[in-house]
Amino acid sequence: MNCIFCKIIAGEIPANLLVDNNDLVAFPDLNPQAPTHILIVPKRHVENAAELAEVQPSALAELFKAAKKLSVDLNLPGYRTVFNTGEAAGQSVFNAHLHLLGGRAFGWPPG
Ligand code: AMP
Repeated sequence: MNCIFCKIIAGEIPANLLVDNNDLVAFPDLNPQAPTHILIVPKRHVENAAELAEVQPSALAELFKAAKKLSVDLNLPGYRTVFNTGEAAGQSVFNAHLHLLGGRAFGWPPG
């Protein structure tokens, strides 16, 4: 499968794994949009968050639990979590992943 995140999980592409457990991995985004920008990726390959909710809802919860733990470990006073779903929303890697962003102020509405 030609999936860049699956290759990271398989160890075929290098990444600084901040978390690696049965359910997921987490590593810094290559093109950070905030001082902290971490991708949290389920080990089961699915296209997006909605599909993950269908096939393995518990894995979806694990992503948010990992985000919370990372935010505590990194002393983030607050953080933003984002799933981009579909090209029109900015999704560029079609393997579900939760963006964890922190370390700066965030505007609303988001850009
Ligand atoms: P999205 O646009 O929501 O699909 O997010 C994909 C993210 O993956 C982007 O923010 C990219 O910067 C990031 N990305 C792509 N390739 C890599 C990589 N090899 N290591 C870390 N982050 C990556």
